[in-house]
Amino acid sequence: MSLQVFKFGGTSVGSSEAIRLAVGHVAEAAPDVAVVVSAMSGVTDLLLSAAAAAKRGDAKGVRDAARQFRARHADVVRELAFSRRRLGDLRKEILRSTRELESVCESVRVLRELTARTEDAIVARGERLSAFLFVTFLAERRIRAAYVDATEIVFTERRLGSLWPSFQRCEAAAKKLVRPLLDRRIVPIVPGFIGTGPDGEVVTLGRGGSDFSATLLARSIGARGVTLWKGVDGLVTADPRSVPDARVLAELTTARRSSTRAR
Ligand code: ASP
Ligand code: MG
Repeated sequence: MSLQVFKFGGTSVGSSEAIRLAVGHVAEAAPDVAVVVSAMSGVTDLLLSAAAAAKRGDAKGVRDAARQFRARHADVVRELAFSRRRLGDLRKEILRSTRELESVCESVRVLRELTARTEDAIVARGERLSAFLFVTFLAERRIRAAYVDATEIVFTERRLGSLWPSFQRCEAAAKKLVRPLLDRRIVPIVPGFIGTGPDGEVVTLGRGGSDFSATLLARSIGARGVTLWKGVDGLVTADPRSVPDARVLAELTTARRSSTRAR
């Protein structure tokens, strides 16, 4: 048994078609895999725009963002053709998350104050909802999976003015919550990007932070490897969105002289 961590980026869970593919990869690796998922592509930006609109007092901006948030998820759920019971659960969860988004934004709008904490609480729902959806879709495909909230296994502490993982706490929590699932051949599904802060609040790990979540989880459970599934063919010389002629690297070497070939 060689335990892996898979992380699916926003593009890899950004449409029903992408989710189907991602589920296929998990099905192949199950049960020796733990999975970290990002928010659907564009959703983190959408949530940040909701927060910014609330801060400016723009009620319509909040409403529009909330509507889009709900629609993005509702659309894939519809396209993935869940069974009726699961469809009901998912719709309820999408609605609950959207309502909560609206109510937090309403407080921001009234107070005209957006703290880092509130912003984190607003964006955290993107990863949580996509992980919830992912678990349900795996269940639909008869792959045993369970949602593990990142705030229960990713702990951070303040060091030199910024947040750092508290490796010991992460490891202890993973032993308690993730290991037993793996031992029962259940695939743990964890939202990326978020964790618990020093005061017990939800925090985010910085933009693109789900890669970090994945490596942290891999460390905590002693996984043999981490695969970051993304919308590009491999490791690229630059961000292809800004550098159109960015190239995929054919091979990578590490300080330990092992090498990784691009697939
Ligand atoms: N969704 C977050 C972002 O867009 C984290 C991630 O995708 O890794 O930055
Ligand atoms: Mg992303």
